[in-house]
Amino acid sequence: MLLSKCKAPQDEITSTPDSSPLGTITEPSREIEILEETDVLVIGGGPSGVTAAISAGRAGARTTIVERYNHLGGLWTGGLVLPLLSTHALNRSGQQQKVIHGIPDEIAQRLKDMGMAIHEVNPTIDPEATKYVLEKMVQEAGINMLYHCWMSNIIVENETIKAVIIESKSGRKAIMPKVVVDCTGDGDVFHLAGESYEEMKYHIGLVSRLGNIDRIDKTKPGYEEIYVGDPTPLKSVNWFNMHGENDQDGTDLHNLSKLQQKYRIDIWENTEHIRSIPGHEEVFLLDTASQLGVRVSRILDGKYKLTLDDSMSYRAFDDVIGICGAWTSLLYNANRVSRDNRPLWQIPYRSLVPKKTRNLLVAGRCFSFDKPLVEDARIIGTAMITGHGAGTGAAVAARSNSSVQDADINQIQKILKDQKAYLG
Ligand SMILES: Cc1cc2nc3c(=O)[nH]c(=O)nc-3n(C[C@H](O)[C@H](O)[C@H](O)COP(=O)(O)OP(=O)(O)OC[C@H]3O[C@@H](n4cnc5c(N)ncnc54)[C@H](O)[C@@H]3O)c2cc1C
Repeated sequence: MLLSKCKAPQDEITSTPDSSPLGTITEPSREIEILEETDVLVIGGGPSGVTAAISAGRAGARTTIVERYNHLGGLWTGGLVLPLLSTHALNRSGQQQKVIHGIPDEIAQRLKDMGMAIHEVNPTIDPEATKYVLEKMVQEAGINMLYHCWMSNIIVENETIKAVIIESKSGRKAIMPKVVVDCTGDGDVFHLAGESYEEMKYHIGLVSRLGNIDRIDKTKPGYEEIYVGDPTPLKSVNWFNMHGENDQDGTDLHNLSKLQQKYRIDIWENTEHIRSIPGHEEVFLLDTASQLGVRVSRILDGKYKLTLDDSMSYRAFDDVIGICGAWTSLLYNANRVSRDNRPLWQIPYRSLVPKKTRNLLVAGRCFSFDKPLVEDARIIGTAMITGHGAGTGAAVAARSNSSVQDADINQIQKILKDQKAYLG
């Protein structure tokens, strides 16, 4: 296929460019070398991308991951957000039940076996051990891994993504996929594809870790009990979450740069404050996360928007691809419902499916949900469940040469069950 015959999305989509006082410049068109063809192309190697790729690979699809950084796990590892939340919830018989099974549970189990996960419910993991486990599992599934490259554009023809453009030290290259899974967290692919979506401004933080926690001397004169983060599998190390500022735009370059600078300074100065309190002199700043903590930004307006009502009412879907748990209390119909009283909830395949593009699925914190569901929809457990469903859906669509909208849900559910997913 000649790339020059394909239309760039900008030709098909009427969008208003960001207004700059400096105006715009036209980039000349150019021929781009085709790097590879693949069945399933996963953009982003975070919790959703890894599970999507492993499920597609195990289902027999030739699969590639494109990841901008140098490791797998996304915010879970590079963002240092260590607890895998939403593993359990209340079932219809009123009992707490484990709901995260399949590939996500296999990842958690491998970490437990290595002594690198603590807590049975919502396990907290070690980030370097997790990068290692994910690397091994991706290799075992025969996935082709492309690190250090950004997905920067797509070429769309007849509502089908013909090519995905990546940028790296090797230059600009094209990958020709049968099906693409958008696991960028920020919906970079569906944004370029011209799908409709909502934007949500929310808290952005920067997580850090403190070392020498086991050397805090509680007998020191003047010692005070202060918050020094939460435990990790390493006894000398705590992770320090940051809620961060609210109402923040997670896709604005200037905003991200401003927050990055502010948080780096805040974290260093906060650690100095901790070290100044008697008994805490040996505590030190082990690291700050290599990626800023954007909780949510673009949210797909897909075939179906999952709602808070769905999640609070045991709603069952014919096209269920996975079940999620609850990790926090929330307000529902003016009542505060505690975590322990919250029901398990189903995710339908159609909430991973965009309205137009025939070969694109979406997983992770940008799949199609209603904003009131955000606290549960943006969590690692949910990201991995949606990844498992999307990867399987992509493999089925690629194998049968069907659109993602027409992919056979019975086949998808059969493969998911074979891969030990829990569908209720
Ligand atoms: C401060 C903070 C604390 C949190 N605490 C918790 C917690 O305790 N427990 C919990 O369960 N969840 C927590 N979360 C949420 C959790 O981080 C997310 O649910 C989860 O990481 C989402 O996974 P994802 O795969 O959708 O996206 P991400 O983890 O964001 O992964 C996306 C991946 O795609 C890559 N990528 C993005 N764009 C491109 C591109 N254009 N080209 C190539 N690669 C690209 C990124 O580098 C990244 O690896 C927290 C989030 C934040 C910000």
